[in-house]
Amino acid sequence: MNGFIKEEDINEVRERNDLVEVISEYVPLKKSGRTFKALCPFHKEKTPSFIVDPVKQLYHCFGCGIGGGVFTFVMKMDNIDFPDAVRALADRVGYTLQYERGSKESQSRRARLYEANKETMNFFHNLLKSEEGRKAREYLKNRGYDAEIIDAFKLGLAPSRWDGLLNSLCGRGFKLDELEEAGLIIKGEKGFYDRFRSRIMFPIFDVRGRVIAFGGRILDDSQNLSESPKYMNSPETPIYNKSSILYGLYHSKSEIAKTGQSLVVEGYTDVLSLRAVGIRNVVATCGTAFTSDHLRLLARFGERVILVFDADVAGTAAVERGLELLGESKVDIYVVSLPMGTDPADFIAEHGRSEFEKLLKDAVPLIDFCLKQVLSQYNLGESLQRTKASSEALTIIAALKNAVAQEEYLKKLADELNVSLDSLFFELKRLKRSKTKRASKEVSEDLVITSAQEKAEQELLRLILQYPEECKAALAELDEEHFTLPECRELFTILKSRAHYRSDDGFQGLLLNTFKREELQKLISKLMLQPVEVEEREKYFKDILLRLKEFEIQRQINTLKPKLERINPIKNPIKHDALFEELLKLEAKRRNLRSSLS
Ligand SMILES: [Zn+2]
Repeated sequence: MNGFIKEEDINEVRERNDLVEVISEYVPLKKSGRTFKALCPFHKEKTPSFIVDPVKQLYHCFGCGIGGGVFTFVMKMDNIDFPDAVRALADRVGYTLQYERGSKESQSRRARLYEANKETMNFFHNLLKSEEGRKAREYLKNRGYDAEIIDAFKLGLAPSRWDGLLNSLCGRGFKLDELEEAGLIIKGEKGFYDRFRSRIMFPIFDVRGRVIAFGGRILDDSQNLSESPKYMNSPETPIYNKSSILYGLYHSKSEIAKTGQSLVVEGYTDVLSLRAVGIRNVVATCGTAFTSDHLRLLARFGERVILVFDADVAGTAAVERGLELLGESKVDIYVVSLPMGTDPADFIAEHGRSEFEKLLKDAVPLIDFCLKQVLSQYNLGESLQRTKASSEALTIIAALKNAVAQEEYLKKLADELNVSLDSLFFELKRLKRSKTKRASKEVSEDLVITSAQEKAEQELLRLILQYPEECKAALAELDEEHFTLPECRELFTILKSRAHYRSDDGFQGLLLNTFKREELQKLISKLMLQPVEVEEREKYFKDILLRLKEFEIQRQINTLKPKLERINPIKNPIKHDALFEELLKLEAKRRNLRSSLS
């Protein structure tokens, strides 16, 4: 289960990493009685519903339901798997993990992928520095990338052979299927060959500085572009998920944290070009649109984000993206659009750093940018066009979280369209009402699903988790038939099979054993962190136990009744009587339970 890290190491690492300290490295925690509170880092909210319990070493968000222990927190925040979370937390406290003895094959698959990428990076980097790399070095020098950049970003060169990398890595003990899974080689009709050939290579690092993928740019612009595209990226792999990776973040995060501001550009060469003139708080997406996942990642380091759009890609696409981003209230997003046909590198080459900084100073808020884009598509002199423009603009304004800001933009819009503020207010309210109607419908359906049965299931598990000693007997009396919710049933089965697990270590062990199942972790942290506030716990417990039994009998009755109705008592008297007797027994049983309940 834990790859090749020893069980005792996992426990040691967990004990040495205080959950409160770990979480406060990501989000500010406020003391609130016995526990700590924060704005949840996993969903947007205005009042804190994210609770951290220092004694139980558990966190749970009562808004979005996410919860667990220290390992799952780091896994989710850093988007890493369990062994990596253990390693990161071991590093954090300077603890040395003792790996289980074993051959290279027994290492986890992901560890091998990281290793393959690292070897590949070194291979490309060394080649760039060799005689073979002279032409590439000249190209980089012309772009303004000096040795410091080449070394810091580990730029490299892919040889102009079909098997340069393949031979080198196979010689170092990597297997073909590992290299294929890492996206480094491709299987063709005649066998495997290198994905990247004759390209300048840009390793892509994750936020912790590990190489997880590559981008490559053709070395020779005169190459036939229909055969090989100018830029080429690694495909997504188990360790490379484009929507959660920003190129350059590892190198720029400290500068972003220092200045509170990040620049988002389109390509990795833009990141390097800006770095070459000393602008170091820059990141780029890796061939995908900038999403709210990216935004949340950046929000961890700085609260102001400037999107630098190439003018030719801006426009409608930018507005669509913008709408998604506006909902994220934690960050202030601004937009700079460059003159038609230029990218940041061109712009700096032509106008210099100070002109570029002037552009940044004049960055407009994302909402202004979106509104302008939308309005520019209509002829505002015509009334029909004006109506269309206003309803599109209102959906943008509705995405704003702040009421004051909304009013301000409504005023601007009223001026621009030459319509009354009142009518815009009215329309905006209508828009919001139709939205909340949809939302409240979802909520009420949710409530109905949480029936008495399901509530009782959760209550019982809550008591077992918090008072394992007192509830021991119940585990023996119940079986999984008494639970209808799949995660409750699963949790019950685990608790029952591990009935000997007690106190603190009991549920920490439980957390470890369920770390792969998010639904279970959420349930456990929720049940652990909701205090049991009843006068007579023993009686309460007994009542719930009986209720669950009653529900179970009721379910049996409910399936039996229609069966009985389908049987003709004259044609099939024996079967009918047998079922009828069964029904009577069940009903008697239920009556007995009821009387002991009251
Ligand atoms: Zn949450």
